[in-house]
Amino acid sequence: MADCLFCKIIHKEIPSEIIYQDEDLTIFKDINPAAPVHLLIVPNQHLASVREMESGDELLLGKMFSGAKMAAEMSGIDQTGYRLIVNNGPDAHQEVLHIHMHLLGGGKMKHPMG
Ligand code: 5GP
Ligand code: ZN
Repeated sequence: MADCLFCKIIHKEIPSEIIYQDEDLTIFKDINPAAPVHLLIVPNQHLASVREMESGDELLLGKMFSGAKMAAEMSGIDQTGYRLIVNNGPDAHQEVLHIHMHLLGGGKMKHPMG
């Protein structure tokens, strides 16, 4: 998608702190971190949100969880815990319409959520 911010990050057309990239996923630091560790796990294939998910996308979205697990280990927070968030649509304040999973950790978080 030519005008998609995360597609541009994935294709290195705009700079970001990419910590991992393979043929399926790109993982980079959030520009405005909400926790000591705040990474974005993003499929390289453009998909706007869960709403646009189609049959056949399950494997790719499953790989986001594998990527989150690996990124948590790389960040040293796999034992202390972390939160995985996928915002979808206006009520959830999804700002970037390229599906992504937030990995937040490195400190005690608020509970309950909301
Ligand atoms: P959303 O609200 O869509 O779930 O999350 C979008 C996230 O992307 C936000 O946490 C925001 O800080 C992050 N973000 C927005 N623009 C950029 C950017 O140019 N670079 C990086 N690394 N993160 C960004
Ligand atoms: Zn995109």
